[in-house]
Amino acid sequence: MEEVSKQFMTVLGSTGSIGVSTLAVVRENTNVQIYALTAHKNFDMLLAQCLEFSPEYAVLVDPVAADEFAKQLKKLGSETECLQGTDALEKVSSDTKVTTVMSAILGAAALNPTLAAARSGKKILLANKESIVMSGELLLREADLGGSVIIPIDSVHNAIFQCLPPQSEGSGDRQTCQVKKIVLTASGGPFLNAPASQLASVSPEQACNHPRWNMGKKISVDSATLMNKGLEFIEASYLFDLNANDIEVIIHPESIIHSMVHFCDGSVLAQMGTPDMRIPIAYGIAWPKRFSSGADSLDLVAEETLSFSAPDLDKFPCLTLGIEAAIKKGTMPAVLNAANEVSVEAFLSGRISFTKIFDINLAVINQMPCQPVPDLDAIFDADHEARQIASTLI
Ligand code: NDP
Repeated sequence: MEEVSKQFMTVLGSTGSIGVSTLAVVRENTNVQIYALTAHKNFDMLLAQCLEFSPEYAVLVDPVAADEFAKQLKKLGSETECLQGTDALEKVSSDTKVTTVMSAILGAAALNPTLAAARSGKKILLANKESIVMSGELLLREADLGGSVIIPIDSVHNAIFQCLPPQSEGSGDRQTCQVKKIVLTASGGPFLNAPASQLASVSPEQACNHPRWNMGKKISVDSATLMNKGLEFIEASYLFDLNANDIEVIIHPESIIHSMVHFCDGSVLAQMGTPDMRIPIAYGIAWPKRFSSGADSLDLVAEETLSFSAPDLDKFPCLTLGIEAAIKKGTMPAVLNAANEVSVEAFLSGRISFTKIFDINLAVINQMPCQPVPDLDAIFDADHEARQIASTLI
């Protein structure tokens, strides 16, 4: 196998589910060197990661945790320099030495460091979906101007990226590759077969208990409401430059086919694999080559059946909100994303019921008419206002 080129990588959100899987892939492949690791306040895990990977920088956004962290690093004889605050995230995403940035911070907080990586021409492994949902065209334009390549890591978009012909990768050039439509598969989450009448009383533990994927809490709840697929629908429309009519969602509970591309001649290409995020992460790091991810190989005989059905939009109305936002664009995706971050947090902390997540998201959208997005300030203003309205409603 041809060797993958040497890379210096910043992992934004290294203490999260995607961050930990990224470091597991890096552990298997010596030609990737960690330049910086970042967390919000998970002191213990970041410390253990620094001792193992010896990055040049570690960033803890929380200043109180960062001061104590810097002392501990010194005491343990580590040469890693500790930085703090959100500006430090942008620094370690744009430093000249960095070749590759894994964007795996949770939520809107990833937007500025991801933009910094785009402007400075890095290879961006885009796991964070909120940054593309919020800033869509702006982020893609900055990446284009900065000479940055964006490789989607979310399993569905990574699958589409792998199925599109190489000349159109990342650019969504549908004319040259004759794409008819793309199909995003959804597991259906933990409540796929639960009666709709029970959804109002499900607990955060039940919502986070995903049958196939092991993920962070926020995305697990989004998976349970199908808001995750709604956000992915918006993300796909930007990343691959598609109209909503050219994107279909189907339920595939086994999560073996991660998505498919229909071509104009009737051919359909699908990307398959075990439900393990190390596979798209390894693809992104090694791109345009491949290397080991450490994941189990797929045994289709053991799987026995692969099933497919249409989503139930009455039971999971958050998906419809995502589709509408992908059609309207402007500020609506950012507003929906912000409202959803606030409502999911309220559900996880026991302040609202599971079904209220949709009610709050809808109420915020109804109170904020969709506006065009001339610049980043318009996005942050919409994000801020949507969070305030959602908090007031809660
Ligand atoms: P986690 O909640 O597991 O981890 C989030 C990471 O971001 C942690 O390192 C956390 O630090 C850090 N973080 C959280 N808030 C902030 C903040 N305000 N500023 C700086 N850092 C912050 O999330 P996931 O790994 O599950 O998801 C990360 C992103 O990837 C999300 O956008 C998600 O939608 C997307 N994604 C995730 C998938 C998965 O399988 N998990 C699949 C596809 C996409 P700390 O630990 O200190 O809190």
